[in-house]
Amino acid sequence: MARIAVIDKGKHFPDKCGWLCPGLCPVNRTGKECIIKGHGKDISIDESLCTGCGICAHRCPFGAISIINLPEELETEPVHRFGENGFALYRLPIPKFGQVVGIMGRNGIGKTTALKILAGLLQPNLGTKKEVSYDELVKKFRGTEAQSYFQKLKEKKVKIAYKPQKVDDIPKQYKGKVISLLKKVDEKCKLDEVSDALGITNILGHDIAKLSGGELQAVAIAATALKDATVYYFDEPSSYLDISQRLRIAKFIKSLINEETAVMVVEHDLIILDYMTDIIHLMYGQAACYGVVSQPLASKVGVNTYLDGYLRSENVRFRDKTIKFMVKSPEARKHHFELTKWPMLIKKLETFKLEVDEGDVKKHEVLGILGRNAIGKTTFVKLLAGVLEPDKGSVDLKLKVSYKPQYISSDSEDIVLNVLQKAVQDYKALIVRPLELEPLFMKKINELSGGELQRVAIALCLSQDSDLFLLDEPSAYLDVEQRLIISKVINDVMENKGASALVVDHDLLFMDYLAHRLLVFEGEPSVKGFVHKPLSMEEGMNKLLKELSISIRREEQTGRPRINKEGSVKDRAQKQEGKYYYS
Ligand code: SF4
Repeated sequence: MARIAVIDKGKHFPDKCGWLCPGLCPVNRTGKECIIKGHGKDISIDESLCTGCGICAHRCPFGAISIINLPEELETEPVHRFGENGFALYRLPIPKFGQVVGIMGRNGIGKTTALKILAGLLQPNLGTKKEVSYDELVKKFRGTEAQSYFQKLKEKKVKIAYKPQKVDDIPKQYKGKVISLLKKVDEKCKLDEVSDALGITNILGHDIAKLSGGELQAVAIAATALKDATVYYFDEPSSYLDISQRLRIAKFIKSLINEETAVMVVEHDLIILDYMTDIIHLMYGQAACYGVVSQPLASKVGVNTYLDGYLRSENVRFRDKTIKFMVKSPEARKHHFELTKWPMLIKKLETFKLEVDEGDVKKHEVLGILGRNAIGKTTFVKLLAGVLEPDKGSVDLKLKVSYKPQYISSDSEDIVLNVLQKAVQDYKALIVRPLELEPLFMKKINELSGGELQRVAIALCLSQDSDLFLLDEPSAYLDVEQRLIISKVINDVMENKGASALVVDHDLLFMDYLAHRLLVFEGEPSVKGFVHKPLSMEEGMNKLLKELSISIRREEQTGRPRINKEGSVKDRAQKQEGKYYYS
């Protein structure tokens, strides 16, 4: 059986454990060098000598070593390996001309690595110590679609456009106005048309440094689409976008397809991924250790298989539980005790005005907050948190409020363990373990990935001694599993503390799992916003989807929501009945 040993160098502290592992390894004890001590704190494991006993992995106090027995069918070398005892990627997804191909899988499983290899941004090494040429890749993939793709890449017969995952970095690379950036990349001379399709015409004159996350995302998509490419890659195009913007970019990305173009998308919002793709590759394995790309599946089958956790065609179970959804609107839970209420409120911020209907929140309850971007959701949360004072009405919550903002600062040099002291002390079982934070303890805050930072920020917020928890976009940068886990953790914490949570998010599937009632925002972005009193899940979803003019049906096998094709029989029937979400 093929086996790999992966060492997380960020968790390797030989000065603290006194080089425990070489002394424990039974192979080392016979005099051979299986675990090799290098210069300073350098360490490596000779995989050809390792017997897979797992002693080092179990005994390492920092969890730095993983010994993995790979599925039998993977007894070939990886496509790429990040150095000796580093992450290994097996197989590649392949773009298909005339189709949108999706990739789904957990964070840290190699999705971005696969995209970068296909986009020519990362030269793979086939598991060896040096990069290999396109000729060698063509040879390796002989007889497969990858062979012809790499042949074309070598001969420059495919032209690539690539949208990176982290749009937050764009202002560090480009200065000036949006329009000058887009003019520079406008190889199709379609700046006006693309700006209009993505709804960014009104920000073309804005400074890139001052754009919100959602605006940066839309500009990055525009800059990618304006390139006269044959293959377009989009890494997480929906982050920071609201639901109507997500639908807009999904339609737009689909529109890039013709017989001579191909699109590949990595995405965690399952409703949007399902809506915009024709086929899907699943990725499974072990986060930060290895990732395997599945054969392509039709989108519906791909998403269902992912939720099921069992990939029949490859006989691989990658999750022990199946994820299911409620088809009927949940009965409003019996929350008898009111935690607090607020009166009608008005807040003006420069040219924007927010009006809030009176409302209340019950103990143990999670109130979901849905609505478009720039319509006052964060302002409302800040009013309740006491960060902002209303102009009319007053918020006298007399409650302790804990707040997780939308954008989390990652500047600190402190390690996670120090930041999460209270969570570790009081909420190990309730928060720290389910959010899988222990492996991050020794990492510095400024070294965390977006998803890791998000989990730390959620844990920090939920571990405070508060009555009301306000979480702004907790699903950003998290994968599907992590979104479902945090929805359970939030509910468990509210149940345990007798507290309540208000959660702003744009992922409907996540909201479906998380919330008991909904606060729906309406209005005109950047001009005015109005929030209704809390509504039942059914009323709230109907109100939101009616405004967006979309209806959602349930997939028979899993009960997951799927967007109806506009004007289809189902779409018209559901809209006529006023059943936009729950049937
Ligand atoms: Fe040695 Fe391999 Fe056993 Fe670790 S798993 S102790 S490296 S033989």
